[in-house]
Amino acid sequence: MNDDGPWMPLRAELKRWESAGRRARLWLRDDDAVEVTDTLERLLDATGRASVPLTLAVIPAFTDDALATRLARENQVLVAVHGWSHANYASANEKKQELGRHRPAQVVLSELRNGLATLRHLHGQRLVPMLVPPWNRINEDLVPWLGQEGFEVLSVFGRSKENSSIRVLNTHVDVVNARGQRGSRSHGDLVAELVGELQARFVKDDEPIGILTHHLVHGTSEWRFLDRLFDETAGHPGVTWSSAHDLLS
Ligand SMILES: [Zn+2]
Repeated sequence: MNDDGPWMPLRAELKRWESAGRRARLWLRDDDAVEVTDTLERLLDATGRASVPLTLAVIPAFTDDALATRLARENQVLVAVHGWSHANYASANEKKQELGRHRPAQVVLSELRNGLATLRHLHGQRLVPMLVPPWNRINEDLVPWLGQEGFEVLSVFGRSKENSSIRVLNTHVDVVNARGQRGSRSHGDLVAELVGELQARFVKDDEPIGILTHHLVHGTSEWRFLDRLFDETAGHPGVTWSSAHDLLS
């Protein structure tokens, strides 16, 4: 391939980890799954070929056993709870939120309890008791109550805060352009972000690096990035792709 340019910084950084006899920890979270679609098949094909474990954040209110039946054929896919219905309760001038302060805490928590029960019923052992708040946002006051509702882990975007009342397994590199700009994110920018996270972990490896994708809205550029990322990293002695289950056990 002659489009190596954007990937050279990643190669250099992974070489550094390899030379130090260390392995960076990566994990993959993909959001918004409800049903089996061509794009979901595309994702399962890409992760399966590269043997990259996947955590699929599923929207409980709208999914059914068709997805569970399909995922039963996969052995490296876990399911997490993506809110309840992914509805936005924020007003037009606020950032979108399902789990915000717009409704009573008891209402939100009972939806989340339902969501966990629904996905556990559908997916059994494949379900990891992880809450992935829609839009990566949750009212901080709800977090201390999540354990009581059966959740063991919270996953949002960005570096984790210290002293959280629940275990946290976050994502740090968002492959899809979610900030409202037009077009896809450049591969050079995405690689630079990933390299920045790797450099920080080289100094202090305090949390695995989470890659975040949204298969339903991927275009050619996003798929190419993911395929190439897997080519560059899967089997590399300086990095390991881990399942959420392994990272939490
Ligand atoms: Zn979502």
